[in-house]
Amino acid sequence: MTEFDPTDPETTDPETTDPDTTDAEATEGDPPPLVGHRLTLVPTPIGNLDDITLRALATLEGADVVAAEDTRRTRTLLDRHGVATPLVRLDAHRIPTHGRGVLAGHRHVAYATDAGTPGISDPGADLLRMALGLGVHVEALPGPTAFVPALVLSGLPVHRFAFEGFLPRKGRERRERLTEIAGRVFTTALYEAPSRVAATLEELAEVAGPERPAAVARELTKRFEEVRRGTLAELAAAFAAQPPRGEVVLVVGPARSDAGGAASASPDDATAEVLARDLVAGGVWGRDLRRALEAAGVARDAAYALAVRFGRRSDPVQ
Ligand code: SAM
Repeated sequence: MTEFDPTDPETTDPETTDPDTTDAEATEGDPPPLVGHRLTLVPTPIGNLDDITLRALATLEGADVVAAEDTRRTRTLLDRHGVATPLVRLDAHRIPTHGRGVLAGHRHVAYATDAGTPGISDPGADLLRMALGLGVHVEALPGPTAFVPALVLSGLPVHRFAFEGFLPRKGRERRERLTEIAGRVFTTALYEAPSRVAATLEELAEVAGPERPAAVARELTKRFEEVRRGTLAELAAAFAAQPPRGEVVLVVGPARSDAGGAASASPDDATAEVLARDLVAGGVWGRDLRRALEAAGVARDAAYALAVRFGRRSDPVQ
């Protein structure tokens, strides 16, 4: 047998692979639907290993097998919570070749990706589609996902938002997506690799304007969690000077409601005040508060006044 190489989908992890399932996909023709079989997508922590629900743990414990994008990572989590269910590796490369075998070989498969909710910018969606095609009953448990705390912590308006996942790396599709983000009158969250954060912020500043409010949420729920808020130009410059370490979510505020014609109604004074109080309660002060209010459509002078009124003396609002 070829030696196990975790980066090579063709090799088999002897420690974690169920020998009964690895070649089940070799079945010819249309197999009968897997009636009575179950796939549960189980969200796992995005950093802090305690961020897992009781139901997720019970599901991992009770399943016949835990299929994981990365068995070593998932094993750490299972060990931490005393779960001894067998593990099998099912990453993006192996789903097309081994997915059916895993689903056919076990009545109840729990699936965990590297982090967060399976199906959100990871191979979970591919496995789910395969399961649906095979007649497997599917479930998705609610749980951690990176873009939600990033949106909330950004301080930008999130009563309505778009989630972009990862942008295409280049070409026309990327430009079109950037232009869409620029034109939106609501907030957008996107995933980005740390090495590309500064370049993407620069591109966003070019299409959406340097003054567009934004935030970069880094290492959420981990020891070095950090959220930086500022304009696209400020953030692009800061991260060009010092590229971020770890995992990152970018959040881009809405186009000003009075800037492009596609306006949403500006909040009235009472709504603006409620919004300001909410932002302050969430730790958004001073300049960040003024910008977040402006991004929500509050007139510039009113946003300034609210930022001064709710601010601490030491917080600059300009
Ligand atoms: N399924 C995951 C979810 O529900 O969020 C997303 C998986 S995707 C392959 C990985 C991306 O999620 C990272 O590149 C980063 O953009 C974001 N991410 C994951 N964990 C994060 C964290 N702790 N802090 C900030 N971003 C994170």
